[in-house]
Amino acid sequence: MAGTKFSYVKKFELPDPLLPNTFILVRIDGHAFHRLSEAHEFMKPNDERALQLMDHAAQDVMNEFKDIVLAFGESDEYSFLFKKATAVYNRRHAKILTTLTSLFTSSYVFNWQKYIPDVALKYPPTFDGRVVLYPTSKEMRDYFSWRQADTHINNLYNTVFWALVQQGGQSTTQAHATLRGTQSKHKHDILFSHFGINYNSLPERYRKGSVLVREEVVEDARHTDTTPTGNDIQQSTENLEAKSEKKLRTTIKVYHCDIIQNNFWEEHPNILQG
Ligand code: ATP
Ligand code: ATP
Ligand code: MG
Ligand code: MG
Ligand code: MG
Ligand code: MG
Ligand code: MG
Repeated sequence: MAGTKFSYVKKFELPDPLLPNTFILVRIDGHAFHRLSEAHEFMKPNDERALQLMDHAAQDVMNEFKDIVLAFGESDEYSFLFKKATAVYNRRHAKILTTLTSLFTSSYVFNWQKYIPDVALKYPPTFDGRVVLYPTSKEMRDYFSWRQADTHINNLYNTVFWALVQQGGQSTTQAHATLRGTQSKHKHDILFSHFGINYNSLPERYRKGSVLVREEVVEDARHTDTTPTGNDIQQSTENLEAKSEKKLRTTIKVYHCDIIQNNFWEEHPNILQG
């Protein structure tokens, strides 16, 4: 390709490869969603519609980036793990991070109305994003444990906080003061004795966040709408054979399960394999 006398400026763009053979973790987080959730009247402590919208955007990201093997979402954040050997965009840092973050954001906006039809967006939501590289599966396990433990701590706090405000008649300042310095057991006690809420019976989505994995499902490839007319026996036999074929199809599954204990990782051994 012929250059012009100007094209030397392209050389000022520096390569930004991510270290080979390390896990690439991308975490996106809603910018100022405390404000966004208030401006758009999210239900507190958990607006399920908003969480489902986040899950939808994350699935769009996984459909586009086939090397993502696991995603975990809570509140206004999502973490995406690429398989260790991924060559996506030649592992270019900015290319991966900006494309993923902008796809997540545009999907969030694109699908907003589907999930929150009664509230129009008042301004464009934005997400920040970062890449973190982890060398071993131990750090990877600990990373996801860290995020799920965070989900639990925040949700317990927010559940008691909003019970004190919405049912206990406290101001938000009073509720923060009531909870200052309290241990987890004390929060469970307040919830149960004052508000009759058994924390462990709250929806798993709120307590554990969303876990997205790829799983192969057996799909029956039979076409029920192509009944042969009977005037070509040979043709219809071939159709019958084709009809009983089973196909393996990869789908994205959404769970709200524990990812701190071993169980999940034993059931999904491929996630942390090179
Ligand atoms: P930034 O401005 O870079 O986004 P932040 O404090 O919002 O800073 P995040 O990485 O978005 O940082 O934080 C994710 C979560 O990590 C937060 O929910 C917070 O509870 C927790 N967190 C933040 N800083 C620390 C820290 N130093 N150690 C442990 N947990 C932290
Ligand atoms: P930052 O820009 O630093 O991330 P932030 O205001 O987004 O600031 P976060 O720590 O990311 O702060 O917290 C996100 C906030 O968004 C939560 O504290 C909560 O108030 C609100 N939020 C997010 N998702 C929901 C939801 N599904 N239902 C109710 N509130 C939500
Ligand atoms: Mg943050
Ligand atoms: Mg945020
Ligand atoms: Mg932040
Ligand atoms: Mg957040
Ligand atoms: Mg381009």
